[in-house]
Amino acid sequence: MQLRKTLSTNFFHLSSINQCLKHPFFSREISPLHTTSLRPDENLLQWSTGFSTTRAQELQKRHRLFQHVLLRDRSAPSVARQEAKLIRRSSFAVIAISFAVWTAPLTAQSTRLVALRCGSLFDGRSDTQRKNVVILVDGEKIKELASTAPAGADIIDLSHETCLPGLIDTHTHILLQGDITAADYDEQLLKQSPEYRTILATVNARRALEYGFTSIRDVETEGAGYADADVKKAINNGIIPGPRMQVATRALDVTGAYPLQGYAPNVAVPHGVQLVDGADNARQAVREQISHGADWIKVYSDRTYRVREDGVLDDIPTFTPEELHAIVDEAHRERRKVASHAMALNGVHNSVEAGVDSIEHGNYIADADLKTMAAHGIFYVPTIFVGEYVAEGRAAAGAPVWVQMIQIHQETFHRALKAGVKIAFGTDAGGFDWKINPAKEFSSMVKFGMTPAQAIRSATATAAELLGMQDSLGTIEPGKLADIVAVPGDPLADVSAMEKVDFVMKAGAVYRRP
Ligand SMILES: [Zn+2]
Repeated sequence: MQLRKTLSTNFFHLSSINQCLKHPFFSREISPLHTTSLRPDENLLQWSTGFSTTRAQELQKRHRLFQHVLLRDRSAPSVARQEAKLIRRSSFAVIAISFAVWTAPLTAQSTRLVALRCGSLFDGRSDTQRKNVVILVDGEKIKELASTAPAGADIIDLSHETCLPGLIDTHTHILLQGDITAADYDEQLLKQSPEYRTILATVNARRALEYGFTSIRDVETEGAGYADADVKKAINNGIIPGPRMQVATRALDVTGAYPLQGYAPNVAVPHGVQLVDGADNARQAVREQISHGADWIKVYSDRTYRVREDGVLDDIPTFTPEELHAIVDEAHRERRKVASHAMALNGVHNSVEAGVDSIEHGNYIADADLKTMAAHGIFYVPTIFVGEYVAEGRAAAGAPVWVQMIQIHQETFHRALKAGVKIAFGTDAGGFDWKINPAKEFSSMVKFGMTPAQAIRSATATAAELLGMQDSLGTIEPGKLADIVAVPGDPLADVSAMEKVDFVMKAGAVYRRP
């Protein structure tokens, strides 16, 4: 009865799932498959990670049988049917359990040592590779790099692969499904509920992880409120698979500067950001966003681009310097960092002067601002691929400047490299469809002038520094979190190999293997 009560009154709470797990049917059919001594009241994370690969497959088979009993099979033994009846009322719980099983990591964080036998290793510390290295993983951390695997360790054979640190994408939008044109964008905000968009975001989070991105910085939800904070929470609680996340929640812009635009004044339309005007209101918005889970504050510092006769990419700055200073001051006071969307002359200059922590896109950056960025450690997140990807579509929709920007961007990238600015890998995934592998950015960075090793370090060591997690992420060395990916082939010879990640380990748990 307690079960029925819990399920019928509390469908959407994790406890209903745990109640299902306590149910005699589950304990009889599924408990024998446990490899560890899990208690049924332990949470889903432990439950879903407590199986070896073959046992996980066996469990999935059993689970399908269980679902069959629950949902259809009238010829099932009557005891099972009666037991199932209790649970049938909660279709959510069933789906949630199904999802948890379906998405469980392939292997658990083993209590035994795990040995990854790597054909080559790019550890992110140097620009060269080492051959035939064994990475020993103990729980969620890297224990040691060795030449042979110790007796008794679980061995994962990656001897035909190159192992690398887990990749970090520092500019994503998991709540967005591509917005080449304004119509693509408007449709998502006008016709999709935040709840529906959040469901899509959970799929994008899994995609990101499977592409090899074990951490992301998601820089605003584009009108979906604080849904990114909830996706992050669901990942951290082991409900869904996904990368480690830092989130920016709603982002800030001024009145009249951010879509949706162009509707009749009497029609109330949603906006992709929180609109604020004036330094005090901006401070209040920063406080509000932080209180709802923002790790970063994202600002849009410019808009409406044109190429001047001297080739400089010009813009209309959005916030006044006073407003930008207030935002940065308030965020830093609360130990949060600021990411500034700034594509051109004035937006970049105002942001750099205000002391933001990263410049997003930066298609044009004046030499003097590059100098300040290098001196103050302000990161440059160039997002090259997306610019090329959206250019034709936006030009066709009447904005040819997007095609002109590509060349300007490449020249800026060259100057930034020369000036010694820290360049962090970021893709703007979500600005293009998540079905496209964001690792295409590696080839774009190499095309623009980086070596493959530089591009990979921008997505590992440098990106970890941008997240402030350089002590636990970004390189493969003892004591760091075991975020490790592998690709067939040699990414230093052909960086497009980074689009072929076929092994993914996040904090010691394997999510994908060749
Ligand atoms: Zn973006």
